[in-house]
Amino acid sequence: MNSSLRKIALLILAVIILPVLVFSVFEIGNLRQNEKIIQDIYKNQLDAILFSVNQYSDDIVSNLSSRIENSLNDNKPDTVPELNRLLSEFSAVISLMQFDNNLEYLSSVPYSYRDSTLLSEIITRLGSNGNTLHQLQTYMKGGYRKIETIGKTSRDMQLIVFYTLVKDQYIINVLVIDPGKFISQVLDPKIQEIAKDKFYIVAYRAGEDLPFYTSDKQYNPEKIDNKEPFWLLKDYLMGIEMKDLTIADLARERTKRNLILVVLMDTVLLSGTWLIFRNVKRQVELSQMKSDFVSNVSHEIRTPLALISMYIETLEMGRVKSAEKIKEYYNVILLETSRLSGIVNRILSFSQIESNKRKYTFSETVINEVVENAALTFRYSLENKGFRYSFEPGEDLPVIMADRESIADAFVNLVDNAMKYSTENKDITVRTGKYDNYVFVEVEDHGIGISDKNQKFIFDKFYRVTEMNLANSVKGSGLGLAIVKHIMDIHKGSIYVKSTPGSGSLFRLSFPVK
Ligand code: ADP
Repeated sequence: MNSSLRKIALLILAVIILPVLVFSVFEIGNLRQNEKIIQDIYKNQLDAILFSVNQYSDDIVSNLSSRIENSLNDNKPDTVPELNRLLSEFSAVISLMQFDNNLEYLSSVPYSYRDSTLLSEIITRLGSNGNTLHQLQTYMKGGYRKIETIGKTSRDMQLIVFYTLVKDQYIINVLVIDPGKFISQVLDPKIQEIAKDKFYIVAYRAGEDLPFYTSDKQYNPEKIDNKEPFWLLKDYLMGIEMKDLTIADLARERTKRNLILVVLMDTVLLSGTWLIFRNVKRQVELSQMKSDFVSNVSHEIRTPLALISMYIETLEMGRVKSAEKIKEYYNVILLETSRLSGIVNRILSFSQIESNKRKYTFSETVINEVVENAALTFRYSLENKGFRYSFEPGEDLPVIMADRESIADAFVNLVDNAMKYSTENKDITVRTGKYDNYVFVEVEDHGIGISDKNQKFIFDKFYRVTEMNLANSVKGSGLGLAIVKHIMDIHKGSIYVKSTPGSGSLFRLSFPVK
């Protein structure tokens, strides 16, 4: 790579590629962090909703405990019917059992509910929860009633304990609650109100994968990550998830979308940079070719000029006596002059093409005539240089619409190249013919040929093959084939090359038939 290109590549790397990469890495890190923050906020909000369900169940039981205490403190002779009526409002409450501070059983509501196994289980639980009882009583003395769970029975009944103060005596109350009913009947209305059509709220028994209660009966639970224990129900959990897309999903989706955007942007930027670099590279190469062109053309002009002036000087000095030699010298001068004008014409022709000033006059043209007329101009110099030229005209060729002068130019250019790039085998064959809807003229030589790699570029302006010695030593402008290509484009025709290095080339110009 030449040094100015290397500088541009380094500049692009420093100004575009590195910042893009740093930005992308930073942005991707940021996205991850954002996703985590959003998910944390989301989780906190869901937790807050579950908190409010727990708060609500605490309120319910707390309210019930106050009403129980009130009815116990009523000065009615028998409080049992009143308590019975109170508890019958809560189908989830199986029974209320009362004990004194020494854990002596006092009474139960409903009265009939006296299950000795249950009673002994409750007494054992109360015994092992001495600390909790002590705390509850302390709170109670401070004027605040606290409710606490002390576990569950062997039949999965939940035991909730609280103190009441009845006629200056502290009584331990144990509510025996059916947890399933408590959730699906007592808590359900509140849960429905919270869930509406935005959330699913479900309840599980610990250790089970499927919920036994869901706020939406149609819901088929799959994955619920947000679970919290019920404060009052031991070994029961509630879970919550948003309906449709969860915020976690949304955050994930958003991160994915942003990631795709970052990758897309990087791809566009990097491919844009690559395109710019390629373009700049092409321009740098073009300017290199242009400077080569100037030196090649100067050289091409200098050689015939030197020859012409040398022969004229010799003739002028009158040293050459033989008429034959004089004729030969004049011929050389003529030949070199026509070569000079050829070079100048080509440069002029190219500059006209570049500035779009070249005028074309299309008329009905017979390709064989163009070839024959053009051959008149180069035949002499061709044979002079030892070439064997043969023309194999196609028969009954349709006429084409063409600018005769320019297609003759194109054809002469090809023959010129065939001569320039031939070595020992000096056979040049020109053929005309037709195929499909085309008429063609082709020029075949047995010269040095062109590699596949170079065949792609030989029609670019200023492009010259520099690999092979001959192509290097033969001077040229790199314009000939670019002009031919342009002429063929104007005629909506095409140029085709078949060439094998070392064995020769065939260039074919095809013109569409009207
Ligand atoms: P130039 O003035 O260099 O001949 P052209 O545009 O006519 O410019 O050709 C471009 C390049 O293609 C040449 O430099 C030469 O290497 C290659 N080329 C063209 N014609 C032939 C041919 N008949 N045989 C081998 N190489 C050729």
